[in-house]
Amino acid sequence: MSLRTPVASLVSLVLVLGAIDAFRVAGAQERAANAQGVETIQIRPNMFVIFGAGANITVHTGPEGVVLVDSGSMARAGEARAAVRAISAQPVRLIVNTSADPDHVGGNETLARGGLSIVPNAFNAGTSQAAIVAHENVLLRMSAPTGRAAAFPLGAWPTETYTSRTKSMYFNDDGIQVIREVGAHSDGDSVVFFRRTDVVATGDILDLRQFPVIDAALGGSIQGEIDSLNRLLELAIPAMPLIDKEDRTLLVPGHGRISDHADLVEYRDMVTIIRDTIQRLVDKGMTLQQVKAADPAQGYRARFGRDSGPWTTDMFVEAVFRGLRRSAS
Ligand SMILES: [Zn+2]
Repeated sequence: MSLRTPVASLVSLVLVLGAIDAFRVAGAQERAANAQGVETIQIRPNMFVIFGAGANITVHTGPEGVVLVDSGSMARAGEARAAVRAISAQPVRLIVNTSADPDHVGGNETLARGGLSIVPNAFNAGTSQAAIVAHENVLLRMSAPTGRAAAFPLGAWPTETYTSRTKSMYFNDDGIQVIREVGAHSDGDSVVFFRRTDVVATGDILDLRQFPVIDAALGGSIQGEIDSLNRLLELAIPAMPLIDKEDRTLLVPGHGRISDHADLVEYRDMVTIIRDTIQRLVDKGMTLQQVKAADPAQGYRARFGRDSGPWTTDMFVEAVFRGLRRSAS
């Protein structure tokens, strides 16, 4: 199989193999991560993940239509739309955004177009647009105060926002809970729990490419990140006690491969250990430069660290340092 496997053939291959468990399609995920194009993997009979269109896009299918978690980047929106169409001919009814990051919301307008809102009302009567749901802070980030240019066009903005702890709905014979995570990666984080399908789309609270992006300027915090990882652990059931069966809750991270409880424990432990290490250095009165020089992420650099790009190890260490200093003062 070539590196650039077309979406449809990869999906059908996975179906032929009967490989509805994510761990049996690890090779396909590797290829998806390495390939330049957009690729789709089936992780449950009614659930797919589109890789390579920006952030991971989770696709929930059923008799009532398609539910998406995140929409990828604007640049890849056309390819993401084609990938969704290849999975289901049903209209997109709902897009949930896990944050306001451009690679999570950039495809909103394109993927919502031609859809059918999950919440019909007087405002969307006669239109063919999927609903877009996010925490209220996502709308605030994507729109703009009067007189200033908005970060995104109107058609990409959430059509429904929530401010409570959860927003729950029943759709496609599944209980879907959009759960707010307070100030982890940003101040607009949501995770989406598909109860019957037993899949959690985590957004960037779990980012298997790298150390978690804690965007303090957008309301993120190290303590919020660790709290969120611990709450995700409460939702994720491991393959216990019948370990010879592969039943388990699957996690779709914001970026990177499909994960499970064990991956989440490892990631939570990694973040917690680095936080504790930096806390000890802060308690000794070290400056930021001294903390960086002490290399508190040592041991995890090879797997999660980056020395260049938008989120380096230094930036992560600095975000944790500043968060701990702020909470101490
Ligand atoms: Zn992301």
